[in-house]
Amino acid sequence: MSVEIINFGCRLNTYEGEVIRDQAQKAGLQDAIIFNSCTVTAEAERQVRQAIRRARREHPAAKIIVTGCGAQVHPEEYKGMEEVDHVLGNADKLKASPYLAFARDEEKAIVNDIHSVRETASHLVAGFEGIARAFVQVQNGCDHRCTFCIIPFGRGPSRSVTLADIVAQVRALVEAGYNEVVLTGVDITDYGKDLPGTSTLGGMMKRLLALVPELPRLRLSSIDAVEVDSDTMDLLATEPRLMPHLHLSVQAGDDMVLKRMKRRHSRADIISFCAQVRRLRPDVVFGADLIAGFPTESEAMFENTLRLVGEVGLTWLHVFPYSARSGTPAARMPQVPKAVRKERASRLREAGKQQVAAYLASQVGTVQRVLMENEHTGRTEQYAPVEMGHGHQTGAVMEVSITAANTSMLSGMPVMAK
Ligand code: SF4
Repeated sequence: MSVEIINFGCRLNTYEGEVIRDQAQKAGLQDAIIFNSCTVTAEAERQVRQAIRRARREHPAAKIIVTGCGAQVHPEEYKGMEEVDHVLGNADKLKASPYLAFARDEEKAIVNDIHSVRETASHLVAGFEGIARAFVQVQNGCDHRCTFCIIPFGRGPSRSVTLADIVAQVRALVEAGYNEVVLTGVDITDYGKDLPGTSTLGGMMKRLLALVPELPRLRLSSIDAVEVDSDTMDLLATEPRLMPHLHLSVQAGDDMVLKRMKRRHSRADIISFCAQVRRLRPDVVFGADLIAGFPTESEAMFENTLRLVGEVGLTWLHVFPYSARSGTPAARMPQVPKAVRKERASRLREAGKQQVAAYLASQVGTVQRVLMENEHTGRTEQYAPVEMGHGHQTGAVMEVSITAANTSMLSGMPVMAK
């Protein structure tokens, strides 16, 4: 065993996991397992600790290193775990030097002040083991302070990757055979605010698509609807290579809850944003992050969120029962009982399932362009999963005739070339 990377949480961690692999190998680290942790919920952190204990049992001699947001926010907890050899914060995890120090057992922990980080380190990632689409970091950190969120304390201030570095990375991935790139970060709609001139996410994407004409599919990770710039809206209307799939950081559908979350949007903002995007790009499909059982949320407030799912047509839902993160303002607010949070989360998931079933049924009889994620399943431009039967090329984009749908998956067959 040389160096094994275990990523948790977001797509940004998946991207960074490849950089960590390169840097750790460059530093000559051997027989090591690196946990790129997440701390967004208590459950995420429990899974990290559980995986560490299992790894220690299965690999008694391995060097175990914990990095990522969990290590940055709770370094003492990980230092206190007997299974853990080293702890590394987010500020330094993309450098080679810490892994060299760990290889020589010179340091137990390197956790620096993430709030003083101003740069995004540029790295060229060659590819993603076993993944058909590539993730490219365009931004890191966050300047907002939503009352439930611990991420800014793990990731630091918002900072953008330069256009030149993004273009170089995307070109390298397209040359490596990737047909789809997902732009990722923490708050990507905040892109460019720290760069000279008037860069925006949409402005950057327009330049990127012009400079890499051979890139077939560009997808966005989670966005903040009220921060979307006019160039992005323009691209949605005119650019077929920008995928008609937007994942929105909605969190709730009740204005009082949104106010107490310190979100920058209202219920009406989400409704009008989605209506505007549907006018520009009628085949668009929305996903959304939603929190159930935020402190002080009443049944009536929750029902405003539940109703929003159907009103706007939010299809791919990521539903989280509220999880108190110590150090956040919401953790000090009057809490909703855990059982109620769970029950509301399951109602939201059920509403999402109904949206998915209705959307999938509407796709039968259409022809879709599908990116194969392995030899028998892939996803459409709207991110709908498609079962294709075996023997297809992973990473290929195929014209597919959609023949059937069940509540969670489409079935299709390749369109024969005329
Ligand atoms: S925008 Fe809010 S929810 Fe998103 S990372 Fe920043 S603080 Fe957290």
